[in-house]
Amino acid sequence: MNWYPSILGLLVLSAAACNNPQPENHTANTTGRDTVVQQPARDTSPAETDTAIISPEIKDAQKPGKTQQKQDAYQAKATVPPDQSSSGNKNFQAVTDLDASILLDIRYATANNFTKAKIYDCPACLLRPAAAAALVKVHRSLKGKGYGGLKMFDCYRPRPYQQRLWDKVPNANYVTPPAKGSMHSRGAAVDLTIVDRDGKELDMGTPYDFFGRAAHTDYTQLPAAVLANRRLLQKEMEAAGFAGIRTEWWHFSFRKGNYVLSDFLWPCE
Ligand SMILES: [Zn+2]
Repeated sequence: MNWYPSILGLLVLSAAACNNPQPENHTANTTGRDTVVQQPARDTSPAETDTAIISPEIKDAQKPGKTQQKQDAYQAKATVPPDQSSSGNKNFQAVTDLDASILLDIRYATANNFTKAKIYDCPACLLRPAAAAALVKVHRSLKGKGYGGLKMFDCYRPRPYQQRLWDKVPNANYVTPPAKGSMHSRGAAVDLTIVDRDGKELDMGTPYDFFGRAAHTDYTQLPAAVLANRRLLQKEMEAAGFAGIRTEWWHFSFRKGNYVLSDFLWPCE
């Protein structure tokens, strides 16, 4: 069908977004592709869309070839040594230890994510301590304004888990190669939304990990209330030192500090 290449373009656009280590580069990389992007039919649930469209691409990506070459190139360029420290938790802060009222819905600890596979052994939201403290400020600011606060979809993503993602989807268009790393693997990125006082997610126009133009922060063909909710999230996060990216309303990176990639795995009981 004619729409297939366009949908594929959408997937490519959002591919590395959450995983991209340099949001500004991500923006640059995708500039120009907008001209070929079309909004997918919204009457298809994102889950169905992911299943129907990603599957053949994943299958294709598992063939050796260009993808392996890309991975080799990334490994050759990787110059930052990973943080192997298993002294561990001093380098990271569980946000729920700072404020237990922050909600967790860590999708990679379930099969409810775009890979349809459980990637993390157990859920946790760890961040570099400064980022965690900043996040709690946002949470409390929102509570002070009558909201329930934040719900976290993803936080620190250890490189071994990034490797699992890569093993599942070995395609640099979809997953950042582990050797390249991502802000998530540096403990300095979050995927999140805002909830109301009943714990219900505010309407952000699309679900988390929706692959398409409607998830872009510069997409304005949305109800005023949705745009207001997105602006609220962006404003609160920026005030705490985070910066968003154009292609995913839910992704923010902490901009205060440089952090190395880490292999630290949080314990599971
Ligand atoms: Zn992300």
